[in-house]
Amino acid sequence: PRALVWFRRELRVDDQAALYRALRAADQVFCVFVLDRDILDALPRSDRRVDFILRSLVELDTSLRALCPGGGLIVRHGRAAEEIPRLAAELEVQAVFCNHDDEPAALSRDAQVAEALASFACQLRTFKDHVVFERSEVLTGAGKPYGVFTPYKNAWLRQINDFYLRSYPVARHAAALAPTALARGVPSLAEIGFEPTDLSPHLGAGASGAEALFEEFLDRMDQYEASRNFPAVKGPSYLSLHLRFGTISIRRLAREAWQRAQGGDRGAEVWLSELIWRDFYHQVMHHHPHAMVRAFRPEYDAITWDSGPAADHLFEAWCEGRTGYPLVDAAMLQLNQSGYMHNRLRMVTACFLIKDLGIDWRRGEAYFAEKLLDFDLAANNGGWQWASSSGCDAQPYFRIFNPVTQSEKFDPEGKFIKRYLPQLAKLPPKLIHAPWLAKPLELEACRVVLGRDYPTPIVRHDEARAATLARYAVVKSRA
Ligand code: FAD
Repeated sequence: PRALVWFRRELRVDDQAALYRALRAADQVFCVFVLDRDILDALPRSDRRVDFILRSLVELDTSLRALCPGGGLIVRHGRAAEEIPRLAAELEVQAVFCNHDDEPAALSRDAQVAEALASFACQLRTFKDHVVFERSEVLTGAGKPYGVFTPYKNAWLRQINDFYLRSYPVARHAAALAPTALARGVPSLAEIGFEPTDLSPHLGAGASGAEALFEEFLDRMDQYEASRNFPAVKGPSYLSLHLRFGTISIRRLAREAWQRAQGGDRGAEVWLSELIWRDFYHQVMHHHPHAMVRAFRPEYDAITWDSGPAADHLFEAWCEGRTGYPLVDAAMLQLNQSGYMHNRLRMVTACFLIKDLGIDWRRGEAYFAEKLLDFDLAANNGGWQWASSSGCDAQPYFRIFNPVTQSEKFDPEGKFIKRYLPQLAKLPPKLIHAPWLAKPLELEACRVVLGRDYPTPIVRHDEARAATLARYAVVKSRA
């Protein structure tokens, strides 16, 4: 039999579920990636993620050719819903193999593909690859999905064993890969209508980029708990982009963390929890797709957010890092300049937009979705609904981060702030978190004039806090 493996968000050869299953089931296996116009046409013409994908595809193609001379990756540019059935028919395969993608848009695309394939007796066969436990694999004793993280995590940890974390030995079955003249290399950005990006050439793409990052993180995983909250420090793994595009296997990461955690490594235990959050939000998306567009808790849909020109003005200042709160601004500049933002800062900036500026969390969610290299619908939505208190296991609505206190606590010396706001470089730690509280002479001595070199705050936190508590009162009355 012949099979086609459709790569989507698992741009690697190693430990790839659908590829492995296809190699076991068929004796001629072809591989394809579709640069999907349904997704690409909606993006700005310069998008770092598209750049990352193309770089990763080049490596994927090379790896496939190494396993099968004369083979490689077939790359199509068009609508996946049409290209996949067309190619399947052309290659006369009996089945198309791919991995689950539970985002609502992906599910509807896959349903269209399955229907089109069925019309010529070709099957769409799908597998779990992207998470450790998916859909309804971890349920409460009553057979219901979990709504609170900690009991979910405990159940996850009770259920985990070597079976779920073992890798799929793809190379062992590579003989089934088929040569094909249709694999003609990967197009350039220009060839698919995109402009060059400023994605750093040092940001390693593909499986080799992921591997290098992970190797480096292994040496400091034990420090994770102590360092992960401080954005100026190299604390987290920076693997989110690779997890998003599957250039590394989640089983590989979870296996390493789980084994170390069992050996008593607290850093590994805490890092594993983060990987479990990822699974948690994916099962939330599966069970509650409505939350991808509305509040997870319906009573929060009754909140009236600020809108109109004044709110637009505040929103723009937030997007561009001009709020006058140095930590918030430095964080937004990190996002704009690199496509990454530290987790602590994602929480701080999201909370600031919602609870200091009174702006609908969905506007912030959409901005992150456009800018984050690691944008993932389930995790991003989970994070935003956590910050707006409307989500599954979210922070209570009366918990409102104070952006100055967060700054003092997590960037005590202002090192992170200064990296992105060099105009504040001379401010000492006692002034950097809230420069407007400094005396004009103190600022002058540091060569800073507020309103010229750096903005004055666009809101007063104490006033915003009171307004937010009033805004959220509608929720209490409905709960
Ligand atoms: P590490 O600290 O090394 O964590 C390892 C991995 O665990 C991450 O790569 C990620 O896959 C997973 N992870 C960690 N924290 C979370 C979490 N809270 N929820 C789900 N998975 C998690 N993460 C994304 O991958 N994509 C997003 O679009 C995204 N948007 C977010 C928006 C907001 C408002 C917030 C508060 C968080 C968001 N996160 C998102 C979660 C988290 O901030 C990032 O996963 C993390 O900062 C990525 O950096 P890292 O790989 O160095 O993380």
